Amino acid sequence: MSTSAHLPAEPNAAKTAEARSGGTVTDRLVEANRQYAASFDNAGMDARPVLHVAVVACMDARLDPHAALGLELGDCHTIRNAGGVVTDDVIRSLAISQRALGTRSVILIHHTKCGMEGLTEDFRHELEDEVGQRPSWAVEAFRDVDQDVRQSMQRVRTSPFLLHTDDVRGFVFDVTSGLLREIDPVK
Ligand SMILES: [Zn+2]
Repeated sequence: MSTSAHLPAEPNAAKTAEARSGGTVTDRLVEANRQYAASFDNAGMDARPVLHVAVVACMDARLDPHAALGLELGDCHTIRNAGGVVTDDVIRSLAISQRALGTRSVILIHHTKCGMEGLTEDFRHELEDEVGQRPSWAVEAFRDVDQDVRQSMQRVRTSPFLLHTDDVRGFVFDVTSGLLREIDPVK
């Protein structure tokens, strides 16, 4: 129950204390943001990526594209989803990235021990059985990560919507060593 009658004078003090000592994970993240904003000094930064590069990567929690590539705030666009799959929506983001915001290079990063490797399109069928509705999207599960990177490169290179498809490179990030391994587009 609320004990607002006994709250200290500082209006957010109780919330802050709760966030620091526990609360929900979002409460803790919002508190972290307050600290981030306190020393934020990027107000004048341009929306156009400094290095003119877009990175498409898996959403995996072990992969930090900025740290792994030595990127700084403002350097690149980062587009992430499960698997780092080049879906229509990734093409949408790349088209905007290139045509409206001046990027020219594309880096694709998949990784070892991806959660997508254990999945099949059965995931979609099971979902349909469970909820009575077929998802409009494909799971895009894969067994061979190298081949999946090649397919992703091919999708970017052959997209009619992109201005720049000459500098498209694909990599597999090793989650145990932190190293990138480049994938030859032609096997
Ligand atoms: Zn992954």
